[in-house]
Amino acid sequence: MQRITIAKGDGIGPEIMDATLQVLKAAGAQLEVDEIEVGETAYLKGNTSGITKESWDIIRKNKVFLKAPITTPQGGGYKSLNVTTRKSLGLYANVRPCRSIHPFVKTKHSKMDVVIIRENEEDLYAGIEHQQTDEVVQCLKLISRPGCEKIVRYAFEYAKKYNRKKVTCFTKDNIMKQTDGLFHQVFNEIALEYQDIVNEHWIVDIGAAKLADTPENFDVIVMPNLYGDILSDVAAQITGSVGLAGSANIGEQCAMFEAIHGSAPRRAGQNMANPSGLLQGAIMMLNHLGQNSVAEKVENAWLKTMEDGIHTYDIYDEKTSAKRVGTKEFAKAVISNLDQKPKILKSVSYDETGPLQLPATVRKKPVSKVLKGVDVFVHWPGSNPNEIASKLQSLESNQLSLQVITNRGVKVWPNGFEETFCTDHWRCRFATSTDVNIEKIEILNILNSAIINNIDVIKTENLYFFDGKQAFSMAQGQ
Ligand code: NAD
Repeated sequence: MQRITIAKGDGIGPEIMDATLQVLKAAGAQLEVDEIEVGETAYLKGNTSGITKESWDIIRKNKVFLKAPITTPQGGGYKSLNVTTRKSLGLYANVRPCRSIHPFVKTKHSKMDVVIIRENEEDLYAGIEHQQTDEVVQCLKLISRPGCEKIVRYAFEYAKKYNRKKVTCFTKDNIMKQTDGLFHQVFNEIALEYQDIVNEHWIVDIGAAKLADTPENFDVIVMPNLYGDILSDVAAQITGSVGLAGSANIGEQCAMFEAIHGSAPRRAGQNMANPSGLLQGAIMMLNHLGQNSVAEKVENAWLKTMEDGIHTYDIYDEKTSAKRVGTKEFAKAVISNLDQKPKILKSVSYDETGPLQLPATVRKKPVSKVLKGVDVFVHWPGSNPNEIASKLQSLESNQLSLQVITNRGVKVWPNGFEETFCTDHWRCRFATSTDVNIEKIEILNILNSAIINNIDVIKTENLYFFDGKQAFSMAQGQ
């Protein structure tokens, strides 16, 4: 017996959880269940995180968590429990298989079978945002080397274990050369270790277009958090219904399994919802727990039920479905098929057990780091770049001179274009043209002079060379 935590969540959550647990029990899953309360009820009791300390303790003790969707109340400072859970428990890999059930569920893509592996902890989801001037707000995009290494390796190990042939990487490193550039570089490095698996990279915009148009050309796709969030919903929806896909959130110690859809409050309490998404999450959980023969049994029974045309309202179609059923009747149909395999759809067989075994991340040794200057960000309501340049030149020292001023990343001084629109947020780059490592006191001197000269500095960023390589972006137009 394995002890897991479950939460029935909100909206359609309790109905699809009950249906899922009935199927698991009938299939012989060896599970003992601790139920916790998360979501709306917890939020409305005044818990802005949507979960109590006691519930955290149970989740952390049991390590494996099956969660139905929850409703995040709008406004009121409530934080998304999903994002909090993934980050607090270190669930760095979000695995979302999206496969079409053609011809039994209507889709434009009959041969689609894609697994999206989304980085789950970093990127713009660090949630570090600030308003800096009257006109400009900022959100920090943080990407780390260990974060990239873990997710990329997970994608290749997943492909190896599940006999997938190709891993594709999506980034936007033609624009974000440091952040997405690191993700792409780590992908290239790790791909070399998996010679039997094809690897390729697409810029995310054309990659997304190709995924929506010809998903049959993709196999496993790995990507940073935001692109993965958006594109996994697109991929699930184009298989026929967002209600069909499950998701695994995997960490080094804990794991959480769920449906990819939300709590669908309008369908709640009507015995209408499709429990397939949560059931798919539960099948991934059984595989993770090493109960692979039960996982196989449930998946084949589910495929047979799909093939028999026993469909909930979201996928029911007069031409392809045999019977329109509710949540409970769907679960009963799956249970009655538990010893059967699909006849037309390909049945599954899960041989290997347990979670993927990944080597521990080995931190790289620090390399030489040379400080060459500083970007000083200034709040200034004027519009003439020459004016701010002459103010800022008064801050120059022996070592640091003003080299360029940008506005929203584009060069406006020296020799800017008068057509460029300028906000009240100016980046003023002070740098040395020599090879020396400047002293940090030089930066303090600039800030000190800025205060004396009544210049409103809102932040600074140090300009480094790591291992002899420039590690900051140039201005557009520089
Ligand atoms: P949703 O996924 O709940 O619903 C989108 C559409 O899909 C609706 O038309 C709905 O009826 C349908 N649908 C979804 N699941 C279905 C199922 N199993 N069977 C049949 N039809 C289904 O998205 P939403 O309406 O944007 O969000 C509703 C609430 O869910 C919000 O409070 C949101 O914050 C929350 N949410 C939670 C999670 C989660 O807990 N993991 C994920 C996404 C959204």
